[in-house]
Amino acid sequence: MTEAREWMVQWLRDAHAMEEQAQTMLAGQAERIDNYPELAARIRQHEAETKEQAERLLGALESIGESRSMLKDTGGKLMATAQAVGGAFAGDEVMKGSLASYAFEQMEIASYTALIAAAEHLGEAEVVRACQANLKEEVAMADWLASHLPATTRAFLDRANAGDPAAKR
Ligand code: MG
Ligand code: FE
Repeated sequence: MTEAREWMVQWLRDAHAMEEQAQTMLAGQAERIDNYPELAARIRQHEAETKEQAERLLGALESIGESRSMLKDTGGKLMATAQAVGGAFAGDEVMKGSLASYAFEQMEIASYTALIAAAEHLGEAEVVRACQANLKEEVAMADWLASHLPATTRAFLDRANAGDPAAKR
């Protein structure tokens, strides 16, 4: 195996760890924002997409003869748990969560953009296809979060002003 191909494989594994982390983060967020049903529903939808993205990456790894093992996901999962819990006492967790989610999607977009370039460079069509499918969903989620952020912000502020104790959720 060439050095370049080894890097692409490593990045696929990194992407899989990233999706495992995303699942933990999204599940934690959806659970804690029940007063923002539209946002919660979109997060749930993306959580389901994220599970498929992780599977898609495993399929891509298998398609190039890499096993499903040797995935070092545990660290990422623990980190995401810490992040999901971290916002819980800030008082504006719906806002903190929205910002963190948007930043996370941008990281995913950058990761898949690089992976697509690497896979194209190495002529790995299956990997290109899998990463393009994932990228499309990340872009859609990032766009949704960006376009709904002003409304979420206004809803949060109005609730806070009204003394609604549920504002932060
Ligand atoms: Mg993802
Ligand atoms: Fe995502």
